[in-house]
Amino acid sequence: VFIVLLGPPGAGKGTQADQLVERLGIPHISTGNLLREAVQRRTPIGLQATAFLDRGELVPDSVMRRLIGERLDAHDARQGSIFDGYPRTVAQAAALDAELGQRGRQVHLTIALDIPSDVIVQRLGSRRVCACCGSTYNAITSPPREPEICDRCGEPLVCRADDSPTVIRRRMEIYRAEAGPIEDYYAGQNRLAIIDADRAPVLVTEATLVAIQRATPYRPGLPLDAAVPVSAARR
Ligand code: AMP
Repeated sequence: VFIVLLGPPGAGKGTQADQLVERLGIPHISTGNLLREAVQRRTPIGLQATAFLDRGELVPDSVMRRLIGERLDAHDARQGSIFDGYPRTVAQAAALDAELGQRGRQVHLTIALDIPSDVIVQRLGSRRVCACCGSTYNAITSPPREPEICDRCGEPLVCRADDSPTVIRRRMEIYRAEAGPIEDYYAGQNRLAIIDADRAPVLVTEATLVAIQRATPYRPGLPLDAAVPVSAARR
């Protein structure tokens, strides 16, 4: 199943994606992570994207389409994936439909994580990441076992450069301007579920899985390739 996760920065997309990866057995495609990796490795896409990332602005759609197309061709993405941070514009939503369509696939459901702005500002200020393995923590809601140290690799945790207050405000402005039309795009095609994300992560995951189960061929305990297409299941 192909699932899009939508939500403002700090809504818990990364945390929910990790849970869904475990429960559904499909990869998490985070364009933010792919871009940061590309920048670090100085790939052609990374070199084109670096200035946009530093300013907290959206990387051009043409660059993003190339990035996502390459990722969809990897073997692990054939049965499905969880898109996090993509699409960010209606043009990207249409591009994703086109890229998946070319591969005989489709977005089954978009999950929009719904959360008040003041909760987001508080959450982002306390977010920490491991510069070594990319694990994310929250100093308040999901701290590491030892303060400021990664549970997985023992390296010191850092604040993400784009979690500074100025860049957060800019990213929230961009998100709000873009999110409405994207939600409308998927809602118009009956592919949107809005989930209340201002509660314990485990409850958000359960609500998300129920929505996925209702809208897609996914059934717990069934290997994904044994699931029937939605259109056939409804007949
Ligand atoms: P994120 O980790 O999702 O918050 O993304 C970090 C940064 O990567 C954003 O501020 C953008 O500069 C860039 N980025 C991530 N996803 C996209 C996308 N779908 N379209 C354009 N730029 C993106």
